[in-house]
Amino acid sequence: MVAAALIFATPAGAQGTGGVNADQPAPQPQLSAPPPGVVVRPAPLLRSWRCTRDCQDAWSGTTGSTLRLRGKWLGRTFEVVFQGAPGEADDVAAAPVRRSKKAVSVRVPLAAVSGPIVVSDRDGMQSVPSNPAVNLSTPVSLKAAGGPPTIEVQTRARRAFFDAARPATVSYVVHGDAATHVVVELVRSRDGAVVTTWDAGDIPAETPQTLSWDGMVDGRLQGEGKYTFRISAVGANGVRAVTSQVKGAVNPAAFRFLRHEFPIRGPHGYGEFAARFGGGRGHQGQDTFAACGTPLVAARGGKVQFKQYHSRAGHYLVIDGQRTGVDYAYMHLRSPALVDAGDRVRTGQLIGYVGRTGDATACHLHFEMWTAPGWYDGGHAFDPLPSLLAWDKMS
Ligand SMILES: [Zn+2]
Repeated sequence: MVAAALIFATPAGAQGTGGVNADQPAPQPQLSAPPPGVVVRPAPLLRSWRCTRDCQDAWSGTTGSTLRLRGKWLGRTFEVVFQGAPGEADDVAAAPVRRSKKAVSVRVPLAAVSGPIVVSDRDGMQSVPSNPAVNLSTPVSLKAAGGPPTIEVQTRARRAFFDAARPATVSYVVHGDAATHVVVELVRSRDGAVVTTWDAGDIPAETPQTLSWDGMVDGRLQGEGKYTFRISAVGANGVRAVTSQVKGAVNPAAFRFLRHEFPIRGPHGYGEFAARFGGGRGHQGQDTFAACGTPLVAARGGKVQFKQYHSRAGHYLVIDGQRTGVDYAYMHLRSPALVDAGDRVRTGQLIGYVGRTGDATACHLHFEMWTAPGWYDGGHAFDPLPSLLAWDKMS
């Protein structure tokens, strides 16, 4: 049998990031009980936090301050998201420097702004936003006058998905007395190759900068894996500074680039033989079980080809994947998809909710992948389970 894969969720955790506005609570789907075989583990619970090092006071800090968070189920913390204002645009996430079941320590990352923080675990499940919010002020440079420039760097998230609404983004600031000429390189960890370079020009000191990468180099989609932004700054006097990783520490300039995101944002299980591709009855996809109401996101961005209702498939959606010949089909949605035929969808965008419409006895996503030229259009269905398992592991 196929072991049930576990991801767990609360509806709150299943929502996207972004500071919560008390006047406009995020819509929370009504979840059914989990189908058999789906194990639900609790989302991280954030009870309290304090600024413990390099702080203005217990609730106020700046870049580099250490916060200590307390709660439950924090042992699988992947990152702490500084949400800033409502919306994802100013979100910055940092890896914990220390974590246990009941406590997490994190340094305030560069470019984080005042707002609530949330704990996100390895399965993307999030705590509710902290109350109170974190109060952050502009950092004061502690560098002695006349010394060589130093560079601070921070990626906005530890994972970046191709064709997502938010590309891989890095923030950096050069500390020093004068402007420097800055060059940013993207280094592939697998072999140390510099895959692309940006000449940022002359950058004034103490002025935070951001730069994004869309996953492409010279028109070619780059491979999945770990990458690092490497930044060098040369002053007028020729003194040079280069970012480098501190041994043993989480590299704040590194991120993992992925081409797909796992489509179910919540606890799920893969079921047994009948759920498999083929499954002894010409089953054209993989069934993955999850509570009805669990959010579904686009595994890969692209263009919506079909949004329809069918007596067997129920509410379904087919997306023609961006820069791939593959079509992705999502079936048995609880209600009509949240996007329409012809719409451009981004990787990780909410497209609907797990349901059991059509010929379905349990709440599940029936997921298909078809080769070019596409779904019932000359392509053929292939087993999506290896892809789902791989995305599940990384997303
Ligand atoms: Zn099915």
